[in-house]
Amino acid sequence: MSRKGKQEKPVPYEEGTPPDWDTAVGSFTITKRREGSLEKSMLTGACPRCRHAFLKDISDVVVQAFAPETIRYAWRCGCGLLHAGAPAGTTGCGASGVLEITPVLKVAPK
Ligand SMILES: [Zn+2]
Ligand SMILES: [Zn+2]
Repeated sequence: MSRKGKQEKPVPYEEGTPPDWDTAVGSFTITKRREGSLEKSMLTGACPRCRHAFLKDISDVVVQAFAPETIRYAWRCGCGLLHAGAPAGTTGCGASGVLEITPVLKVAPK
């Protein structure tokens, strides 16, 4: 871990909303996935702070909002990796922010 090239190295843990949050949110997508008789809504994207990919099951959030209204979802980095300085047992880089999800409209077309 002593390389200092252009390789991306994991950012240290830090709580808060990344400065480019608004832009990053635009690249998040919701995809539907069938599991038996259940349809799951998975939120995917890359964390705006550590750039690690994440996958979150937000079915509960989306189901609650079946009316076509925007729901506010408190997102937290869930990349599943350990970042230096994170509290014990905590994965993710600590980035968080509020996401506005419009379940019906934001579903990925494929
Ligand atoms: Zn990460
Ligand atoms: Zn992160």
